[in-house]
Amino acid sequence: MDEISIYIHIPFCERKCYYCAFNSFCADEEQKQTYLNALKNEIIRRKTDRIVKSIYIGGGTPSILNSEEIEEIVKVLYDNYQIYDNAEFTIEANPNSINEDLLKKWKSLRVNRVSLGIQSLNDKTLKSIGRLHDKKTAIKAIELTRKYFDNVSCDLIVGLENETGKDLCSYASEFIKRGVKHISCYLLEVYPNTLLFKMCQKNEYKPLNDAQTIQSFNKLSNYLVDKGFERYEISNFALPSYESKHNLNYWTRGDYLGFGISAHSFIDEHRIENASNLHDYEKGIFTQETLSSKEIVEEIIMLGLRCKIGVNLSNLKDYDITKNVYFNDYISQGILIKKDDVIYLNPLYYHLSNTIISNLLP
Ligand code: SF4
Repeated sequence: MDEISIYIHIPFCERKCYYCAFNSFCADEEQKQTYLNALKNEIIRRKTDRIVKSIYIGGGTPSILNSEEIEEIVKVLYDNYQIYDNAEFTIEANPNSINEDLLKKWKSLRVNRVSLGIQSLNDKTLKSIGRLHDKKTAIKAIELTRKYFDNVSCDLIVGLENETGKDLCSYASEFIKRGVKHISCYLLEVYPNTLLFKMCQKNEYKPLNDAQTIQSFNKLSNYLVDKGFERYEISNFALPSYESKHNLNYWTRGDYLGFGISAHSFIDEHRIENASNLHDYEKGIFTQETLSSKEIVEEIIMLGLRCKIGVNLSNLKDYDITKNVYFNDYISQGILIKKDDVIYLNPLYYHLSNTIISNLLP
C-alpha cells in the first residue's frame, strides 16, 4: 500500500520572535479553539487510505497546547488514519513551554521524537532576538526531554550578532553531553516585515556578515562531524540512524498531507497550499497547482544536491545535465562528485549551493 507523511501546523506562539517570518501569532482562547476545531475537521475531511509513515506537529509552538488539546488532535488522527506502529512521530517544542506532565502525555500518545527550538545558549543573544527562554531554561528543557525521549533534536541559528563559531561549538557540546542525537543549524535570514529587519535598518542589530557566518558554520560543521554526526542535509546533522525520516520524505519528494493554516501538501505531483489566514482556512480555502516536467526536474536537482543522497541522473527524464555548460567544470574542480549514475554536491561547497544549483537547472 502507498505510504504518506503527515504534517500538522499549530500556529500559536506566546510572543513573536524578532526574526520570525513563519505563519505564527499570539491567539486568544476563542481563536485557539476555533482553529483547533477547524484543524480536526480538516484531518477528518482529507482522510486517505494510504498508510502513514511519519507525523510531524510543528509551528508555531505546538508545546503551547495543553495535554487535552494535543490528545484530541492525535486521537482524531489515529481514529481516521492507518499509521505504522513504528511511525516517526515528532513534536516541536519551545524550552519555556514544556513540563514533565506534557512530556509524559506526548509519550503516551506515541510521540517518539522531540525537536527543541534552542537557537543559542547565550542569555544576551536570546534576549536580543526576542526568545522567551534563557540558557538555564534551555538546559533544563533538554535534560527533562531526554528523560522521556531518546530521539531529541535541537535547533541552532548561525549568524546572530557576536556569536562566533567557537560559541556555537560550545552550545553543540552542551547538547551532545546531554545525549542529543540530531542538530539543525539554520542560517539567520533577516526577512522584511520582521522586527529584526527594522532593528537592522536602524543599526540596532548587526548580524554577522556573510564571510563570518560561513566561517562560523564551517567550524560548527567540522566540530559536529568530528563528534560522529553526519551532515545528511545542508542544515541538518545526525548521529547514525537518527536522521529525520519526516524531513527525508520531503527531500526525496515523497507524498505528504499538511493540515492547518498555510500548510502544504504534495500528492502525485500536485501541490496544495492551505489559506494563510484563519478566516479563509476555516472555510476550507486552498490553492492547487500541478508541477510541470521542468518544475519536477528542478525540484529533484534542488533537493537532491542539498542532501547526502544526491541526484540520480536517471530521474532527470529528458534533461541531460551532463550537457549543462557548468557541469564538466564543476566535476573537474571537485565541486560536483559523480559516482555511477548519481551526482553529489561536495560538502566543502555547500555555502555556494544556491549559485551552483541555479547554474545546473534546465
Ligand atoms: S517560537 Fe518559532 S514560530 Fe514562534 S515566533 Fe518564535 S521563531 Fe516564530
